[in-house]
Amino acid sequence: ENALWEIAGKNTPAEGVERYNQAMMDMGAMICTRSKPKCELCPVADLCQAKAQNRQADFPGKKPRKTLPEKQTWFAIFQHGSEVWLEQRPPVGIWGGLWCFPQHDSENIQPLLTQRLGASVSDALKAEHLNAFRHTFSHYHLDIVPLRYQLTQLPSMINDSHHGQWYNLLNPPQVGLAAPVVQILESLRYELES
Ligand code: SF4
Repeated sequence: ENALWEIAGKNTPAEGVERYNQAMMDMGAMICTRSKPKCELCPVADLCQAKAQNRQADFPGKKPRKTLPEKQTWFAIFQHGSEVWLEQRPPVGIWGGLWCFPQHDSENIQPLLTQRLGASVSDALKAEHLNAFRHTFSHYHLDIVPLRYQLTQLPSMINDSHHGQWYNLLNPPQVGLAAPVVQILESLRYELES
């Protein structure tokens, strides 16, 4: 990168730099294009090393495709009527400070029912798989499996150490939501309204 800055510095004129820069951009847009450069029209053809070696197609080259690692997580959706249980994420880490469904590293989310809401499986209808989907971060793919328990009654004892709230799908509070959560809330709202 330093070498390129040095070359750029040497070739940039002291005067008329606006015209020079514009010309460079026009060159890139109209003459030295990524595919099929128009070398016969090129004003710097005599200097071009790619042309001299007949290797125009080799530059700038393709970036190697990154293979991202894949991870899986389960979202526990505890729903009572038009309300779902959301928790605020810790301030650091993915979705820092945003509201999200309780997350688990296996599909056995039953313990979360008791741990978070003091409820038991008998207070809920059978667990239901909602549509799984993939959310991609810059450094990995996250496959999200939403599992829903519909509660037959609102739990009376809630463990609030996870900073949770009942989020009303039909009268949503203004809170910051993690992107995949928005997607799930939309489909739950649609289900209620249809
Ligand atoms: S001669 Fe070189 S700089 Fe000019 S258009 Fe062809 S490849 Fe691009």
